[in-house]
Amino acid sequence: MSAVTLYSSPEVVDVEGTRSPPASGGATGEEGGELGVGENSRRPTRGQSTTAQPHRHGEEWRARPPEKAMAWIWMLMAAGAVLLWAVSLGRVLSSSSPACLPANSTFLSPPRGDRMSRNVLLVLAHPDDESMFFAPTILFLKSKGHSIHILCLSQGNADGLGNIRKEELYLACVTLKIPAEQVKVLDHSELQDGFHKNWDHGLIAELTLAQSQLWNIDTIVTFDSQGVSGHPNHCDVHHGICKLLRDNGQGHIEAWELVSLNIFRKYSGPVDIWLSSTLSSSSKQPTYTLVNNSPSRSFEAMASHKSQWVCVK
Ligand SMILES: [Zn+2]
Repeated sequence: MSAVTLYSSPEVVDVEGTRSPPASGGATGEEGGELGVGENSRRPTRGQSTTAQPHRHGEEWRARPPEKAMAWIWMLMAAGAVLLWAVSLGRVLSSSSPACLPANSTFLSPPRGDRMSRNVLLVLAHPDDESMFFAPTILFLKSKGHSIHILCLSQGNADGLGNIRKEELYLACVTLKIPAEQVKVLDHSELQDGFHKNWDHGLIAELTLAQSQLWNIDTIVTFDSQGVSGHPNHCDVHHGICKLLRDNGQGHIEAWELVSLNIFRKYSGPVDIWLSSTLSSSSKQPTYTLVNNSPSRSFEAMASHKSQWVCVK
């Protein structure tokens, strides 16, 4: 599942259980056996008064929670979560729509003119981004007859595997049915893979514009400002596309970004489909939720990136 939203900035339009002590001056735990005063309680010794004393140590009031009650609460919460997940999955599987799009949606409708489909450019930072992040979007766009192109701005050579990763991207594109001639992988000295590599936004804009003109691109899809996974190279790609749109305000290129989600939503599976759909419909920006109608194809595409399958011991 993925959600894409139209770039929004003006320049890119279109495109543990403890009981608290009572208030001071009230009865203390030394009188209140029902609170289960523990080992830390102070028994009155000879000469000491047994009348209530103002408590000075909060821990004297610590009481074990009723364990059975807590166990029941946890069980009910777990059962509720499983039920919600199962109902959500059932709704998704029984849905007749491949995407949670409103009936009157104009999402990526045909462009002006005679053409009935769009030339969509996916701008990526590394090989495997297409399978790991954009596979649902690619599959949706393909199902609508749009022509998908890929511009990958680096070979992903941080570990010296650039040439291997480049070939893995072409293999993944076979699975995703993207023709090899519509895939371009760059190996620019100023756009090298790495968390500590800063990519020049102007350079990204320049290279993307040149490739867009070559392929007659009318729609760009890429990362949002948080880069989906937070990788700095992804974020730089986003800012580079923003610059392209700013500098070419007279152009006709429309751009969409993949919305980054927090880790809880990212791994909540079908539950987040409901949440994303609801948030999409109430968003001020055009935002759509796309449901992956072929997860096995996504897995198969990702399996092409064997160099990225790391055994964790
Ligand atoms: Zn990446």
